[in-house]
Amino acid sequence: MKRLSVWIVTLFLGMSAWAQEQAIRPLEVPMSFSGTYGELRHDHFHGGLDWRVGGKVGDDIHVIKSGYISRVSVSPWGYGNGIYVTHPDGTTSVYGHLLRFCEPVARRVEEEQYARESFSVNLEFGPDEFPVQQGDVIGQVGNTGSSAGPHLHMEIRDSEQDLPLNYLSRDVYTPVDKMSPQFHRVCFYALDTLPVTGSWRIYNLTQPASVRDTLVLPHRSYVAIDATDRQEGTGSKLAVEEYRVTLDQTLLFSFKVGDMPFDKGRYIKSLIQFDESRGGGRDLVKSKVDPNNLLADRITSRDGGLIVLEDDAVHTIRLDAIDEHGNRATVHYKVRRGDDFTPPERDTSLTYVPWLWYTQNVVTDSTMAYYLPAGALYDNINFSYKKVGDPDPSRGIVSEVWQIGTPDIPLQMAGELEIAAAVPEGLEDKTYMANYGKTLTHSGVQVRFGTYCVAVDTVAPSISFLGGKGGIVNGSTIRIRVRDDASGVSSARVEIDGRWYLSMLKRDIVSLELKEDRLKRGKHRIDVFVTDICGNESHETREFTY
Ligand SMILES: [Zn+2]
Repeated sequence: MKRLSVWIVTLFLGMSAWAQEQAIRPLEVPMSFSGTYGELRHDHFHGGLDWRVGGKVGDDIHVIKSGYISRVSVSPWGYGNGIYVTHPDGTTSVYGHLLRFCEPVARRVEEEQYARESFSVNLEFGPDEFPVQQGDVIGQVGNTGSSAGPHLHMEIRDSEQDLPLNYLSRDVYTPVDKMSPQFHRVCFYALDTLPVTGSWRIYNLTQPASVRDTLVLPHRSYVAIDATDRQEGTGSKLAVEEYRVTLDQTLLFSFKVGDMPFDKGRYIKSLIQFDESRGGGRDLVKSKVDPNNLLADRITSRDGGLIVLEDDAVHTIRLDAIDEHGNRATVHYKVRRGDDFTPPERDTSLTYVPWLWYTQNVVTDSTMAYYLPAGALYDNINFSYKKVGDPDPSRGIVSEVWQIGTPDIPLQMAGELEIAAAVPEGLEDKTYMANYGKTLTHSGVQVRFGTYCVAVDTVAPSISFLGGKGGIVNGSTIRIRVRDDASGVSSARVEIDGRWYLSMLKRDIVSLELKEDRLKRGKHRIDVFVTDICGNESHETREFTY
């Protein structure tokens, strides 16, 4: 009896200590970020903090609060080696792009990879398998997955809702931040309303803080803002927490990131001036609020975020960019109305159809049909299309080539495309829908706006060993280039001495690590099997000494 009560008291104390546990830093280096929560990333908002490590991999990652490792994922893309720790306070911390996991987890992952014969794995664990205490090392900082340099991507999520929390604004960590955001570019757009809404750029202010002239705007226009935040001790361009557009004393538009659910992130395509961000430039937040922008719960707007000038007086537009610590940057513009605006001329070779965002839309022509579901558009558009080419057997093109819409119009989801093709007999299962350009790439039949055709791929991928001094082994790694000029590589399988061996296919390189605990020193045979999307297969074999 006595023993039991001691046990209960211990458990109770243990739990209350957990509940009060403050997060510690995951790294020993001074706190500094190369990316913050809410950064605009074309089709999503950045859901965590990117912790800087001074350009090198290998620093230990300490778990920020006690709990248990609940999930581990491995992929050539995304978080690469990712690890998830569930805490008793209802949060989960997520660590991405790891070089490697801590030993018991790493061993378990490798066992599963060999058991499933798959590089990519996603494993979930119960509370008893890998419990961790605050400060335990769960792995090392790396550059795996979709990462452009060594750093630690770390999220704190609400476990129940799987919602990434904006934890810098909650002061979980308090970096020195007395610096205000910075405006890089401000653009104004005229609105065209015949027969449906369109817009064109009338000002592109690349020195947005030094404009003194009065800007002349049409009756109805809107503004788009490229601004980023700064923090002491980092040169990185960080996220702005809140954007505000004010006409005289009236707030026309504000957007505050808040906590952004993953399933809402895609609506960023409606928040940004989409045509400006194509080609990899930084995104601009636009004040116009599209009717199908479901980020509206974090937008305050009037007149749909439009600048409406009802008289010929000079008015003031004020733009504010505010960071998560309340630092603010402001610019003012004098504006007045002008009524002499000519929209750019339309390409008359295209066929135009007005499409409404709240219905499904279908277009059919001689050899083409395209279906777009309701809700795929953010606003009404002038849909356009045309036939741009004929079948070209020299390139394997067996259908007419069709331009479907224009790729500068964003879509929340893809539509379905059919193009009639004259497929040579026996090659039915070697055809694929292709993005048309200098090269053809596999697109699938679910497509966004672009130019497409049906093509035939009968050529197997090429395989070439990159090798090292006097053989195919370089140190303890083997790298193999695999290429497919048409439909594209779909999978690569490596066998050593006839047994599946762990390798990673990323872009057009297959890489694998020779490890003594898997492979005795000596002579071995490697077989590489590569398949393209149309099922054409190639095989190469080599002998090597390790
Ligand atoms: Zn990140």
